[in-house]
Amino acid sequence: MKVLAAVKRVVDYNVNVRVKADQSGVDIGNVKMSMNPFDEIAVEAAVRLKEQGAAADVVAVSCGTASSQETLRTALAIGADRGVLVQTDVALQPLAVAKLLRAVVQQEQPALVILGKQAIDDDACQTGQMLAALLGWPQATNASAIEVDGAVARVTREVDGGLEVLALTLPAIVTADLRLNEPRYVTLPNIMKAKKKPMDVLTPEALGVDPGSRLETLRVEEPAARAPGVKVADVAALIDKLKNEAKVI
Ligand code: AMP
Repeated sequence: MKVLAAVKRVVDYNVNVRVKADQSGVDIGNVKMSMNPFDEIAVEAAVRLKEQGAAADVVAVSCGTASSQETLRTALAIGADRGVLVQTDVALQPLAVAKLLRAVVQQEQPALVILGKQAIDDDACQTGQMLAALLGWPQATNASAIEVDGAVARVTREVDGGLEVLALTLPAIVTADLRLNEPRYVTLPNIMKAKKKPMDVLTPEALGVDPGSRLETLRVEEPAARAPGVKVADVAALIDKLKNEAKVI
């Protein structure tokens, strides 16, 4: 069985992002970029399926600029066998990514595609669902456990008040939640090995996909600045402020 893991290059989660002066978006010039954290979990899940003998081949796929090759190398260092970059300088929205991934799925014919539940830059939480709809495949979102048993994937999801277990007939789409696993530490020998693993570079044109936008961003704003905190002398002063200034008690 082949497993595809989708990985997105995003601004590292430790970076304090700044909005561009013209409010057209977030400034990503000279900012540390990393693999989307939920995608590290997706790759780790795919590699664990291979280690358990449930998967034979793990392919990591990314859509974006040439620098996404670096993100794919990280996926290869975690343990993916091969990388596929769909290279474009167009700013991609979830529907465009889903269409590109569908084209890659049609070429690669995986039994399972694992994506992150959300990209931490756009917080869209859409790509996996759109890909499932475009392919007409079953999907399980926000997976906290995945088991593959023959032609069925059993996926556990944390829902209000408990755990839901779904049985999906393969091929299927799964999106990874935080508790699915803790991705392994990438070691130097594995980084070196990853440099020799194969990477294919495709283009949207070659896949017959128009990656253009369907949505227009009107503006991006910084959140309103918060008023600085104050220290009060004692409990009586605190109660007085809560009652008379904040008017919350
Ligand atoms: P989103 O719908 O943008 O929140 O992204 C959900 C998931 O879709 C991510 O965690 C990735 O697994 C996948 N994804 C989104 N954008 C890309 C991309 N440009 N290349 C590869 N995978 C992506």
